[in-house]
Amino acid sequence: MPVDIRSNLHQVRRRITTAAKRAGRDPSEIILVAVSKTHPPASIRKAIDANCTIFGENKVQEAEEKISEIGRDPAQWHLIGHLQKNKARKAVQLFDVIHSVDSPELAHRLERICEEEGRERLSVFVQVDIAGETTKSGVPETQLQLLVEMLKRCERLNLDGLMVLPPYFADPEATRPYFQRLRAIRDRLAAEGVFANGFGHLSVGMSHDLEVAIEEGATIVRVGTAIFGSR
Ligand SMILES: *Cc1c(COP(=O)(O)O)cnc(C)c1O
Repeated sequence: MPVDIRSNLHQVRRRITTAAKRAGRDPSEIILVAVSKTHPPASIRKAIDANCTIFGENKVQEAEEKISEIGRDPAQWHLIGHLQKNKARKAVQLFDVIHSVDSPELAHRLERICEEEGRERLSVFVQVDIAGETTKSGVPETQLQLLVEMLKRCERLNLDGLMVLPPYFADPEATRPYFQRLRAIRDRLAAEGVFANGFGHLSVGMSHDLEVAIEEGATIVRVGTAIFGSR
């Protein structure tokens, strides 16, 4: 059976709405990022035709090829994967939002490149390494405050939220503590007034655990497999 992207999108939107209502939240406050990594431009076009407007890619090079085919304008492009410093300029040129800022060095470099490229404003999220797994990207909680202080001094980078990529668990309930922890951090930082948008997005939840994420306050879910099929 070929993958029916339109009907998958419909189902994902319904899951979001159902979960939001169950949690007593307004479904319209939850943003869907369709994670199109590994999938071809033709699949992205189908999703655009089904009113999908935001796409997530995890590799700069791959995103560049797709964005050059589809164009910058029909959609918003979010970088959700680890950003190597030598790809920072390309990332500034290509993306609307970067979910994966994880070091003061990277933030500093992005700020400088924005200046050089004449980009007034770049929306960034800090990826937090809740698990403390050194193999995963994300800033360890112990170094988060330093990064946030640094971002506050950046004129062109707008800190708009936090992101976590928990280890994979087959049981979606197992990711709940990660989402709860990130939310507590977000609440504390929001009270300190560090977010450019005031509230601070929570970019949490993927295909198999978006319901749990929405219960725990997700404002952005990043969904790949449930829309585009397996990779
Ligand atoms: C691949 C990926 C997703 C989407 O995962 P699915 O399980 O396919 O929904 C979300 N976030 C990040 C950071 C990813 O790399």
